Amino acid sequence: MSVRVRFAPSPTGNVHIGNIRTAIFNWLFARHEGGKFLLRVEDTDRDRSTPEALRAVLDALNWLGLDYDEEPLYQSGRIEAHLAIAEKLVQDGHAYKEDKGGTGKGECVIFKMPGKDAVYTDLVKGELRKEAKDLKDFVIVRSDGTPTFHLANIADDIEMRITHIIRGDDHVENTFKHVAFYEALGVTPPSYGHLPMIVNAQGKPYSKRDGAAFVGDFKEKGFHPDALFNYLALLGWSPGDDREKMTRQEIIEAFTLDRVKSGPSQMDLTKLTHMNAEYVAEMTLDDFIARMKDVLAGTEWALNADESYFRKVAELMQSRTHLYSYASGWKYFFADDFDYEEKPVNKGLKKDGVGQVLNNLVAALEGIDFLTAEIEKVIHTAEVAAGVKQGKLNFSIRVAVTGCATGAGLYETMVLLGREKVLKRLKYAADNFCG
Ligand code: GLU
Repeated sequence: MSVRVRFAPSPTGNVHIGNIRTAIFNWLFARHEGGKFLLRVEDTDRDRSTPEALRAVLDALNWLGLDYDEEPLYQSGRIEAHLAIAEKLVQDGHAYKEDKGGTGKGECVIFKMPGKDAVYTDLVKGELRKEAKDLKDFVIVRSDGTPTFHLANIADDIEMRITHIIRGDDHVENTFKHVAFYEALGVTPPSYGHLPMIVNAQGKPYSKRDGAAFVGDFKEKGFHPDALFNYLALLGWSPGDDREKMTRQEIIEAFTLDRVKSGPSQMDLTKLTHMNAEYVAEMTLDDFIARMKDVLAGTEWALNADESYFRKVAELMQSRTHLYSYASGWKYFFADDFDYEEKPVNKGLKKDGVGQVLNNLVAALEGIDFLTAEIEKVIHTAEVAAGVKQGKLNFSIRVAVTGCATGAGLYETMVLLGREKVLKRLKYAADNFCG
């Protein structure tokens, strides 16, 4: 039997990384097995389902390269078919109609649990069981005549001939009901695998409060989709060895459900950022430049930059660019009206004697070949003269010429900026910030 899995989002808001991780696992499983990955849009909640939310789902799938097979199925178009199944269950004695609470608003259809323990073997969690006394009958058609999640979800999984349902932990309780529902219909249920929750450092469900939580946030912050894909694939699954950075093809080849972990998966943004940096560092320079230009599309200083100079800056900064968004801090390479960050200015410039040292440096830098080795020598001499440890002046110089505390190698940065800019900025810092 060839594998058919589906991603079944309810388009009611932003796409949480927990949801997209579910999509990734389904996609990987399908691709590993040579099966089909299908999309089903669970849009029966007419009030909460919006076109924007649907767009967000499609954008997220597209951005992450999760291509789906066949035409998507929209649940809202299948209500008649859902209701027909409910009617059949009533006729067969597996469901009954009731005016719940006697409100006179109309009857709902309720599925009758068979009165026995529910047992199934979860692909991730092993055998799961729930006692009959804890399993209550449940509504499948509301009194307003609309199908509930349970009815629509199962009816469409049958329609789509789904073989494996891989979904979040939060559906385990539903599955006990669903297994009984399949039995009542005389249909063999698919296999189920429930993925562990994504949690924060405190073990609580990972949310917006913990940082980026929606796929769109990661895109905006400048993550490479392949890095997010790679990271999320490893969040709750392991290739069985210590590989972390893996190509998509390698992940597909290694992806089996028996290595999905049953414990919660802890989201670690620092680790993800680190992985992203590796992806960025490995891109071709041309690819990197194209992405940086996208990020900087709205900035005058980047738009007007000389092409070959931009290329040199990109080359110098690529290995330090952990997120694409870092490029917005490159202004000091291109324009003089960049921002000076307060903390580094206080720490590096607002100290007694620094102004004098910077002025001395200006004089010394005027007469040399403006190359890294020469610059280094001059700075070292200035340090000896000022009686400070080797390397001590670098921070002050960096703040004076770039306005910030971090960046590429200082001497390379100075060479790229060129003597004129460097001298101007050292003087400016000595005059304006130093005591
Ligand atoms: N719309 C449901 C959800 O997003 C689908 C659950 C399932 O995969 O069966 O949670």
